[in-house]
Amino acid sequence: MSISIGVLASERIAVALVEQHKVSGAIHTFPATEAADLAGGLHSLPCDSIAPQIVDLIKAACGDRGIRVEQITAVGVGFPGIIGDGVVLESPNLQQVKGLKLRDAMRTALRLNIPVLILNDADAMAAGIAAIHGQLEKVIRVWTLGNGIGFGRYPHGDGVWEGGHSVVTLDSKEQYCGCGGQGHLEGIMGHRAMRMRFLDMEPEEVFAAARAGDARCISFYKLWHRALAAATATSIHLDGPGRFFISGPNARFIEIGLMGQYLHEMVKMSPLQGSVLEVVSTSTETAIVGAAVNAELAAVTH
Ligand SMILES: [Zn+2]
Repeated sequence: MSISIGVLASERIAVALVEQHKVSGAIHTFPATEAADLAGGLHSLPCDSIAPQIVDLIKAACGDRGIRVEQITAVGVGFPGIIGDGVVLESPNLQQVKGLKLRDAMRTALRLNIPVLILNDADAMAAGIAAIHGQLEKVIRVWTLGNGIGFGRYPHGDGVWEGGHSVVTLDSKEQYCGCGGQGHLEGIMGHRAMRMRFLDMEPEEVFAAARAGDARCISFYKLWHRALAAATATSIHLDGPGRFFISGPNARFIEIGLMGQYLHEMVKMSPLQGSVLEVVSTSTETAIVGAAVNAELAAVTH
């Protein structure tokens, strides 16, 4: 039976064994406890320590199950940023990792010739949702709404696909995106960007005020939904219609009917209509499963 390793490196590093599209055994994390997050997780690690730290967690996960690391089929690592051929080309919220050859570093730290796939964390999330919903035969796309805006696609393909940085407005005053670009989706929808826009209110308060009838907040609420509809419409015009999942901490603010209405206004050509939007709850486990599933597929096809 095939056992792989899934890794999600975000604020914390989380590692687990994955068997038959399910996490098997405990999830091992660095830092070990959530309270330690505040002291800095991945942010606090020097670049050279990231792969050895991940490998320590892999060994601990294997140890739990009494298996040797050599028995692992493949290792998949979901990592935030633009990943090209095993290298972290850019990670806007983790400047120290720019240029990190993570796949090579993983192989060196493992001291074994196991297939290692490094992929964007949002693509790992998309594969995890596809696996958990039994949709590995279909194309799915996933928006992850958090501090940044992740865009994941399954099947995982070549290319950049930084959908969170889609330009959704030509207003030159729109420049709250973490990457510094003007008019970006993340500059409107990202949690950090919302805090910069509403210096006097937390995002939760903005959405509550919109529901209570505050004109400024209603106007932003509409912009927030239109921005995601616009980026989704662009994806449909480039890649065709299909199923879009919306996940992440701020997916709770999505009014799916309003999104559907805006999307309908933006996509008019009949062969491109019929996309389905769905809010889905995900967890670290989802991305771990997805990273492992993609790594197994890559190991088979190469
Ligand atoms: Zn941007």
